[in-house]
Amino acid sequence: MQQTCLNCGMSFNEDMRYCPKCDNSLDLQHDGSTITVDIAHQGERVNEALAKMQSEINLARKGVSKRIRLVVGSGLIRDEVMLVLRDLEFRGDIIDFEAEPFNAGAVLVRLK
Ligand SMILES: [Zn+2]
Repeated sequence: MQQTCLNCGMSFNEDMRYCPKCDNSLDLQHDGSTITVDIAHQGERVNEALAKMQSEINLARKGVSKRIRLVVGSGLIRDEVMLVLRDLEFRGDIIDFEAEPFNAGAVLVRLK
């Protein structure tokens, strides 16, 4: 899969972390967008929802979105997601996260 440097427009392979042309850190580049992913409303068990969240976050970190919005519902999945996100924040895999204002069933995760 090819990606494009948002700084200079150079195309490169998705596994590169720095632009080969302008040396910009590609991990820090984002286009300000938010991806929404529902991980709780297709009958997922807690561990299935957490696995889905992890793979969506891994995928999104390679892309150019600034945030991922996780629709988590209001039950056990939400509680577990909060615990895992705290861990990811501690490890530096995400920048931070917060319950969406006025909608406790969604969590906004800042990736970049
Ligand atoms: Zn570049």
